[in-house]
Amino acid sequence: MNPRNTVPCATCGTPADFFEKPLGPFCSVRCQMVDLGRWFSEDYRISEPLTADHFSEYEAWEGKALDQPD
Ligand SMILES: [Zn+2]
Repeated sequence: MNPRNTVPCATCGTPADFFEKPLGPFCSVRCQMVDLGRWFSEDYRISEPLTADHFSEYEAWEGKALDQPD
């Protein structure tokens, strides 16, 4: 991982290589979907701290195939 390309994931804040995967500022497909889901549900208009509950509906998404499509 090249430190110069490392950016914090927009969803969870985990540092990830911006150019390593075609995911934009996200560390995984899961985090990308979490962000997308926020926009669809308009959660961004609500100001509240993130909790584990925000991610609970995405638990089923976790898996090697999603994070590593190859
Ligand atoms: Zn993330």
